[in-house]
Amino acid sequence: MKDRFGREIDYLRISVTDRCNLRCLYCMPEDIETVPMKEILTFEEIIDVVKCAVKLGISRIKITGGEPLVRRNVCHLIRMIKDIPGISQVTLTTNGLLLEEMIRELAGAGTDSINISLDTLDRDRYRCITGYDKLEAVQKGLESAIDLAIPVKINAVSVNWDRYFKVPGPEGDTGISKDIMDLIGLCEKKPVDVRFIELMPIGAGKDYPGIPHDLMIPMIQDHFAGMEKDSHHGNGPAVYYRIPGYTGRIGFISAVHGKFCDKCNRLRLTSRGYLKSCLCYDTGYDLKHVLRDGSSGSQREERIIDGLEKSILSKPDSHSFSQEEKITEKLTMSAIGG
Ligand code: SAM
Ligand code: SF4
Repeated sequence: MKDRFGREIDYLRISVTDRCNLRCLYCMPEDIETVPMKEILTFEEIIDVVKCAVKLGISRIKITGGEPLVRRNVCHLIRMIKDIPGISQVTLTTNGLLLEEMIRELAGAGTDSINISLDTLDRDRYRCITGYDKLEAVQKGLESAIDLAIPVKINAVSVNWDRYFKVPGPEGDTGISKDIMDLIGLCEKKPVDVRFIELMPIGAGKDYPGIPHDLMIPMIQDHFAGMEKDSHHGNGPAVYYRIPGYTGRIGFISAVHGKFCDKCNRLRLTSRGYLKSCLCYDTGYDLKHVLRDGSSGSQREERIIDGLEKSILSKPDSHSFSQEEKITEKLTMSAIGG
C-alpha cells in the first residue's frame, strides 16, 4: 500500500521483546523499566498482524528487539512468518551473543540474513560500551553464521568512541577512531558488509558523540585509495562502497544527515503492539487494543487491516532529527527495535 506521499510500504520491523542481555550506552540505560510480559504480543497476535500486513503489500519482515534471541522460541516465530504466503524475506538483527548456540535453529527456520550489531573489536571498549565482557561470544556467533553461509552484515553506530573515552591524539579529533578502522578491516577477508549508522538523537542516543557521515565518509575515503561507490544498493537506505581487494563492502546509513525519508518503505511494530509510523515521532496506532478487544474472524481481520492502514497513512513526509525540539518519540531504541 502507498502512503500519502506515494511511498510503497512493503517492510515491517517487528520487535519481539524489549528485554536485552546487553546495556549499550546509547540504547538502553541500566535503570530502564521493562514491559510486563502480559503486555507483550504473543506469537499468535504477531502472526495475525503479519497475515493482514501481507494483504496490504508487506513482504519483508525484520525481527528485532531488545535482543530478539532472548525471546523464547523465536525461531518458531520466524518459521511461522516464513510460511505465510506473500512473505518473501525474514531477517534478523541481533547483538550476536546467543548466535553461535542458535545459528542452526535460525538457519533451519529459514532466516534469510542476519545483521550483527558490533561497535568495536576492542575487548575493553566492548565491555564499556555494552556493559558485558562478551566480545568473544559475538565473534564466534559471526563465524558460525559465515560457516553456514548465511548472509551477514555488521552494523555499527557512528560514534567517536576515542572522544568519549578521551583518547588523546589525532584520532580523537578526526573522527576515524581505531574502532572504525578495525571494523572496516573485518570485511577485508570476510564475506560481510560492514555498515555504519548515524547515531539518532533518540533516548540515550542524544548523549553520545555521533559522527555525521558527511564528515566521516571523505575521511575514510582518504585512507583507502580507490574506494568507490558500489552501484548495487540492496533494498534499504544504505549506500555502499567497495575498497579494492576487499571481500565485503562498507555501507553508510545516514539516518540523520543524509535524509532518505522520500524512500521510506517501513512500519514498526513494538513488542507491546504499537504500530509506529516514523522513528522520530510517537505517532502511530495502538494495534494491541484491537488484537485484544475480543473480536474474531473477518471482523478481527478488518480491524487489524484498518489499524495498519491508519498507521501507514499517518506516516509523516520526513523526520526532524536535526531539530531536537520536534522529536516527540520518548521511547528508548531498545523499546522500538531500531
Ligand atoms: N539487540 C539487537 C541489536 O543490537 O541488533 C536489536 C535491537 S537494537 C535496538 C537495533 C539497532 O539499533 C542496533 O544496531 C543498535 O546499534 C541501533 N541503535 C540503538 N540506538 C541507536 C541510536 N540512538 N541511533 C542509531 N542506532 C541505534
Ligand atoms: Fe540491546 Fe541491541 Fe540496544 Fe545493545 S543495541 S542494548 S544489544 S537492544
